[in-house]
Amino acid sequence: MRVLTYTDCRLDRAGHLRQDEAWLAARRRDPDSVVLLLRDLQVAVDGDGRGPRLGLVPVGELDGPLPEHAMFLGLDGERAVFAASVAEAPPGLAFVELRGVGSLLPAPEAGLAAYARGLAFWQGRQGFCNACGARTDPVAGGHARRCVACGAEHFPRTDPAVIVLVHHGDHCLLGRSARFPEGMYSTLAGFVEPGESLEDAVVREVFEESGVRALRPRYLASQPWPFPASLMLGFHAEAEARVLRVDRTELVDARWIARADLLDPERRPVRLPSPDSIARHLIETWLQG
Ligand SMILES: [Zn+2]
Repeated sequence: MRVLTYTDCRLDRAGHLRQDEAWLAARRRDPDSVVLLLRDLQVAVDGDGRGPRLGLVPVGELDGPLPEHAMFLGLDGERAVFAASVAEAPPGLAFVELRGVGSLLPAPEAGLAAYARGLAFWQGRQGFCNACGARTDPVAGGHARRCVACGAEHFPRTDPAVIVLVHHGDHCLLGRSARFPEGMYSTLAGFVEPGESLEDAVVREVFEESGVRALRPRYLASQPWPFPASLMLGFHAEAEARVLRVDRTELVDARWIARADLLDPERRPVRLPSPDSIARHLIETWLQG
């Protein structure tokens, strides 16, 4: 099975270097450092007809050193990798939504772009202290922000969400949300609440959305999903019974679908989620099981 999109970021995050201001300043001037350019959370790509590649530009090709607010992502071998927001794309690069190209990029580049997009989204949302309301400034190479008034430190936020394929015998449960593309059905998902284990979140979400009692949640895989700030935690679970009581405020429909019908593209009664999603991975894993 192919690598799950956005999970193959091979960068050494080098967290111990984030506090070294002198080293970071030198890397921002180093012509061999590279920067992933962003604009309004869109990522720069080099679309030259051979498929998109991430627009990683050597600092030596820029007009000057990187700005102080450039985010230090880590080390690729000896080379420092940054991300920075700019107003204009250099010649040959274009800005695109990551969702549109994530599954087309080489896997390590998709992972790097997800990392940069997630951090940039948080940077854009944490300009003010949510303890006292004063301004915050970036510190630690962009991995924290400190309040100028009360000194509170704020860190990037990731929202855990469980996503689960529920099965009963040779049937699995797929649901349809109003915001899905026409005909698409997917695995059930929801955010983890305070004080809740992942397993409890699986059982609660499945019951709320479908009336199905989920048993024995089994963790399979996770996927960063920076659209804007989620971490998807993928499970399989068994159903106590093949019943259904759909909560129409959460889903427009849900169905039990036979494995044989999903395996045969000719008979498949629904459209499956996109190949870059963990939902698709959970479905494919079950189909092959
Ligand atoms: Zn404050």
